[in-house]
Amino acid sequence: MHIITFDIEDWFHVLDNPDTNNIEQWKAFPSRLESGVNKLLGFCDQAGVKATFFILGWVAERAPDVIAEIARRGHEIACHSYRHQLVYTQTAGEFERDLVTALERIEAATGIRPNAYRAPGFSITARSVWAFDILARNGIKIDGSIFPAPRAHGGLPSFPAGGPCLLETDNSRQLKIFPMSFGHVLGRRIVFSGGGYFRVLPYAALKRGFERASYVMTYFHPRDFDPEQPIVPGLSPIRRFKSYVGHDTRRPSAYHLGSPPWLVVANLR
Ligand SMILES: [Zn+2]
Repeated sequence: MHIITFDIEDWFHVLDNPDTNNIEQWKAFPSRLESGVNKLLGFCDQAGVKATFFILGWVAERAPDVIAEIARRGHEIACHSYRHQLVYTQTAGEFERDLVTALERIEAATGIRPNAYRAPGFSITARSVWAFDILARNGIKIDGSIFPAPRAHGGLPSFPAGGPCLLETDNSRQLKIFPMSFGHVLGRRIVFSGGGYFRVLPYAALKRGFERASYVMTYFHPRDFDPEQPIVPGLSPIRRFKSYVGHDTRRPSAYHLGSPPWLVVANLR
């Protein structure tokens, strides 16, 4: 089971960054969404695959035609929140209001009420597992928010499964969980199949990861394929590196320096 998913947001939807955190700041940035989404749709057509698109509600509101095209091409329409905030920084009430707004905006653009959800930054952590029950009672049947390894803005390293499973929420509702997949390197869980990991790892290592695993969940953003995007203001040097490394075909020099965590993943070769 190799699953391709995209988180549909613009180049400036970077989490936990003071210069891009607030929905009011976003209007000032020029959108690159349409060209980004068209590129992804083109990739899917070329490969003859259907994908799951986790769509930001704010984006569906601002660019409904771009989002409607995803549905028109027969891909799965899913939800990636409305305001792109970390789940564990919200109260349960704020999270539910954000979810409901996102579902409404996405349905208004596509005519489809999503029943699958992925949290921004995989931010359903041990502190915010209450979110699962809120998802289930709002019609979400499938969740892709679990990142079962350590991660800067999320992650649930203690989650027992690295493949699809059923989760029972606090109020005995059920959710189908499709977590991020991982491999093992020196006994540690290593995620290799999405975002920055995909941009940094050598192709041979990725190929081997896919061949070895019976279940691979991927995640990409339009910005992962956009070498001409502007640099988001306000990022620290390390976050800037993680966000922009590997957008073109050249391998970054920092990769060869073997600085963590790249040193660990390089052992896959
Ligand atoms: Zn996102």
